[in-house]
Amino acid sequence: MTGNLYVVSGPSGAGKGTLLSRVLQRLDAVWLSVSATTRPPRKGEEEGVQYFFLSDEAFDALIAEDELLEWATVHGERYGTIRKEVEQRLNEGIDVVLEIDPQGAFQVQSRFPQAILIYIAPPSLKVLERRLKGRGTESEASIQRRMKNAIVEMEYRDKYHVVIVNDNLKAAAEKLYQEILGDDARMSPS
Ligand code: ADP
Ligand code: 5GP
Repeated sequence: MTGNLYVVSGPSGAGKGTLLSRVLQRLDAVWLSVSATTRPPRKGEEEGVQYFFLSDEAFDALIAEDELLEWATVHGERYGTIRKEVEQRLNEGIDVVLEIDPQGAFQVQSRFPQAILIYIAPPSLKVLERRLKGRGTESEASIQRRMKNAIVEMEYRDKYHVVIVNDNLKAAAEKLYQEILGDDARMSPS
């Protein structure tokens, strides 16, 4: 028996991290993959918890050794999923969640066609900007870069199996919970 693979994407600031932490608190048996990245840690982030924070050279080595299931450059930094960790858990029958960008999501889908793709959308770009500013983790330049990317990233939403608009936090968390809990067969996206 192999575990289910869930891929969660959405613009930076849409609320992916907030929703996943709420939902995964209630789903002990689901494992959230920890990615590798070249971006520096934000205040409060810890090595091996939010990410494995790597130098450019260390990230190059992971690529060269084919240790990444997928990787992409997002907002000017590289991010990738560590293959061994994911494949091992899936083979043990454990459900796995990847929180990755659309470029990575489609790479994963080509290797795991059964993966369930979930898109977290903000109610509007205005709200997205407000959330990014409110989070207080990004410089103004980084916010503007993330807003620009959000416009491009939103165009991929129709390629996902499920789109959840994160307006009311409680309602959106409940929808995400039901998606991950539910085991029903789904139609392929167009
Ligand atoms: P992401 O992981 O997609 O980059 P975060 O989870 O960090 O986004 O959320 C961005 C900011 O928006 C955070 O400050 C978070 O507390 C806030 N936020 C998330 N969801 C909601 C919501 N439904 N309503 C209001 N604020 C929210
Ligand atoms: P942040 O820097 O805000 O944590 O993440 C920025 C973006 O990188 C988000 O869109 C997030 O989904 C994406 N991301 C995080 N980890 C990975 C990964 O392993 N692979 C890919 N392709 N994207 C990732």
